[in-house]
Parts: sequence; C-alpha cells; structure tokens
Amino acid sequence: MPDDNKTVEEKITALRDDYAQRLASKIDEISSNVLLISSSASKSDAGKAVAAVHALTHKLAGSGETFGFKEISIVARKMEEACTRVMENEEDPASIAETLVGKLEALKKSGSHPDVRMEKQGEQEADSKDSGTVDDRAVRNVLILDGDEKVRLQMVGELEHFGFVARGISHPNDILSAIKEQKPDVLVSDTIFDGNDNMALDIISGFHQSGELDCPIIIHTKIDNMSHRLGAVRAGAGNYLVKPVDMADMIDVLDSVTENGEADLFRVLVIDDDESLSRHTELVLQGAGMMTSALNDPMTVIEVLNDFVPELILLDLYMPNCEGHEVAAIIRQQEAFDAIPIVFLSSEHDVEKQLSAMELGGDDFLTKPIQPKHLISAVRIRASRFRELRSMMVKDSMTSLYNHTTTKQLMRNEIERAKRTNQSIAMASLDIDNFKKVNDIYGHAVGDKVIKSLSRLLRQRLRGADIIGRMGGEEFAALLTGATAKEAELIFNQIREAFSEIVFRSDARDFSVTLSCGIAEFPAHNSVSSLSDASDRALYAAKNGGRNLVMLA
Ligand code: GH3
Ligand code: MG
Ligand code: MG
Repeated sequence: MPDDNKTVEEKITALRDDYAQRLASKIDEISSNVLLISSSASKSDAGKAVAAVHALTHKLAGSGETFGFKEISIVARKMEEACTRVMENEEDPASIAETLVGKLEALKKSGSHPDVRMEKQGEQEADSKDSGTVDDRAVRNVLILDGDEKVRLQMVGELEHFGFVARGISHPNDILSAIKEQKPDVLVSDTIFDGNDNMALDIISGFHQSGELDCPIIIHTKIDNMSHRLGAVRAGAGNYLVKPVDMADMIDVLDSVTENGEADLFRVLVIDDDESLSRHTELVLQGAGMMTSALNDPMTVIEVLNDFVPELILLDLYMPNCEGHEVAAIIRQQEAFDAIPIVFLSSEHDVEKQLSAMELGGDDFLTKPIQPKHLISAVRIRASRFRELRSMMVKDSMTSLYNHTTTKQLMRNEIERAKRTNQSIAMASLDIDNFKKVNDIYGHAVGDKVIKSLSRLLRQRLRGADIIGRMGGEEFAALLTGATAKEAELIFNQIREAFSEIVFRSDARDFSVTLSCGIAEFPAHNSVSSLSDASDRALYAAKNGGRNLVMLA
C-alpha cells in the first residue's frame, strides 16, 4: 500500500514495527559499549565508553515507551542514571560495569516483547474529529426553507455574493429530498407554513432527531416569543433570527456556524535528531489535523523557520552538533520568531536541567514519552494562543483584515519578491462612497456593518495569496500578485457591482452603498509608495468621475 493511502494509525503501527525490528541492534550497540567499559586499558577510554552508553540509553529511554516498550524505557533510564553518576565523577567507571551488564539482560528480555499498546489510536481520532482539512474559502452550502418566493430569491442571490451556494425550497415536505440531493452545511428556515406555526418545527425536529438533518439550523421567522423560541431550541436550532434580518447579520451568523474557528491548520515544527521519534510525533499531530515539518539536523534551523513559518516548535534537548537550548537561543535571535512558543520535548527528567533549558528561551517542558492526547492538547493550546496574540497585532479587529502597518510591510515584501521573479502586481485603493451619509442617516452601527460586508466580499472574491488591508475608516487596499492592472480592473469591477447589489436593512429603510476604486501596476510603479500614490490618484479620479467607478492610473 502506498504510504499516502495509509491512515495515521497504520503509519504509526508501521513505525512501531520498524522500531521493534531495530531494537535488537540498538541493544547490541549498547552491549558492546558496556563491554568496552570493563575491557578498556585506560580510565579515559572507559570514560568514553560510559559517555556512549549514556547517550544510547538516553535515547532508548525516550523512545521505548513511545513505541510500546515501556519496560525498555524504565531499564534504559536506570542505565542512563548510572552513567550520569560516573560522568559527574561520583563513581568510578569500573564500578558500574557490573550493574550495567545486569541491566543489559533485562533490556534484552523486554526488547523481545512489547507491552500492551499504550493507547488506542482510535481515541486520538475521536479527539481530532473537529479538525481536518478545512479551507476557509471552501464553498458552503446553504439550504433556505421559506414560503415567500421573494425572500428566497433575494437570499439566494445575496448569499452568492459572499461565496455561499444557496438553494431554496418552499415547503417543509421538500426538506428530505433536498438533503438527499445534496447535504447542506446549514439550514435557514422560516417557521410559518400553510398558516401553521408549528408544523415546520415539528418536521425539522423529527429529521434532526433521526440524524437525517445533522447540520446547524438557523430559524428565520417573524414570530418573536418565548414559546416559539423554545420550540426552535427543541427542534435543534442553535440560532434564531427575527425577520426582517439584515443580510450582514445573516452572514455573520452563517459564518459563525459554518466556519471552523481555526480554519488554517496549526503549523508545528518538530526538531529531534531521532528520525523515528520525530516521525512519530509528526504522525500524532497530523492525526489531530495539524501541519508538521520535521528537522533532524538542527544546523539548518534558520532556513526551515523561514520556509515553513511554524506557529510552535517542539524541540528535543540533547542532540549532536547543537543542543536544544542552543537551538532555542538561536531561534529567539530571529526577530520574526522571538515570540513563537518553543516547547522542549525531551526525556530529561531532571527538573534543574529542565528549568535551565527554559531560561534560554523555552516556554514549556514536556517529558518523553508523552501520551498522544496530552501532546496534542499541549500543542493546540499554545499554538492557538500564539495565533490569537499575533492576530491582535497584525489584524484589524473589526474586519480581521490586515491593519495599515502590516499591509504596508507585506506589500513591501511582495514587491521585493516580484522584482526577483519579474512578476506583475496590481495595487488597488478602495473607498466607500458617501460613507459619511450612511453614518449620518442610519447610524454608526449600521455603518460598521457596511464596512464588514465589504471586507467579507473582498476576502471572498480575492485569492488567498492576495494581500487585503483595512487602511483606515472606510478605506481598503489590495495587492494582487501576478495580476496586471487590466486583469485587476475586471475583478474590481465585479466586486464593485456585487457590493452595490447588497441590500442593507435599517429601521428606517433598506438601502445600498457603492464604492470607488483606483488601480496601479508594478513594474510601471516600482515601490509601495509610488504604487499607492498612483492608485490613490486613480481613486480620486473615480470619485470626481461620479463615484461607483473603477479607474486605472
Ligand atoms: P467619499 O465618497 O468622497 O469617500 O465620501 P465619504 O463620506 O465616504 O468620505 P469621508 O472621508 O468624508 O467620510 C468617511 C466617514 O467614515 C467619516 C467617518 O466618520 C466614517 N468612519 C470612519 N471609520 C469608521 C468606522 O469604523 N465605522 C463607521 N461606522 N464609520 C467610520
Ligand atoms: Mg468614502
Ligand atoms: Mg475616506
């Protein structure tokens, strides 16, 4: 079976089998070094052999239990400790030779049969069912159940602007066939059909209980009273919106029920000189839906950091060439990574040594072997906190677009890259038309919804690689990599039209808003400042030309 088709569990089992096979030769290697201790002519040769046994048993202690050989870990740990005493001059090499030989027998015995598997991998899979490969741009399927054709058609049309694929049905009796045709990611349902307030909730409740309808349910009704709300909760609806609902509010709710909070997978870098251990750690984390990269030679850490851009680093403490605490210090010297969580994952049990490693830049210490579910939650908690912190610094809190400073920085990087690769780039400046009036007439809160809708639309229509920033108030900028001004003009004209078709609701009345846009191109303008000056001038020309326009520089 090709490796890629195997489940995480199968891959881990294969790793364990492989480990079991290589165990005998590892023990042999320890054995020959133990023999060297007593047969060495000089004390310094004996000392070298002790150091070798120390290193080998240290590794074995850390890996044994991970691969199902708990007894091996225990015995190897005792041998390691005996060697430590010699190395710290507390004992003579000759005096421990006998102890070690005795322990070797125990090692060989336990090496021939693994213990009962530590933990069923199934448990881990249950842990990770909420993760997986979620793309935040993935199409989301909305089923709209509403007897009013006008409402249905309007919702289907507007949701499409925001990247949802919406279908409408007019009667609860059609729910089942609609689900069979395509499973929806969310159901938005009215409650009044054929003059009956309860029929729809009863039907939905039945499908919800039978499991046929297992997506989030949003009730969208004009009835607003406690008993109806209770009926909705009992039918399995997590959200209840009272008509008329502003499309921006509807989108917010749809986003919150269909989007995975952490749509992008956590990126974890595993640094460990032991390849099978780092592979095991990777598989455990991948099984929980994370993205991993392993580094077995810490000397290349800087390149890997810049290529992989991890959100957390798991670091082994004892490695040849460069030790874990030194690697941590080097990582901390990189400005871009001076706040990244670094967690030592080591078989070092000495708390003093753990603490001194952390002084040099580690955030936490996990001891090997560690239960997969503990490793997963330790990583998830820290990576998620790091992502939140970083997001507060680089993103605008209202729209989650990049803030002004970050946008400019990312644009500079992108232009440097384009210079090297001779790519074209289009920069767009956008500004909402007569926005002051929107605030004056409908209020600031409604104005905020308009801003949020535009940012949602931009994110929806542009690609993941494009840079989108909120530059201030109702002004946005976007940088489209690889696009010419002409191509960008086409895209922004579509965005302009889609935006003008969005209907906002306020207590006063329904209304729509337009935007103006100016576009400039690299390499005709070859710096961030000249690009943004040029696109700003084009934007003013669009304003002077009557607004609701896209103009080229
Ligand atoms: P023009 O078509 O020329 O762009 O006219 P305009 O009214 O949109 O332009 P102007 O720059 O005069 O007004 C922008 C308004 O945007 C003024 C400010 O109160 C409002 N604004 C800025 N930030 C926010 C915000 O975060 N929320 C809301 N609701 N309004 C904001
Ligand atoms: Mg404006
Ligand atoms: Mg403005």
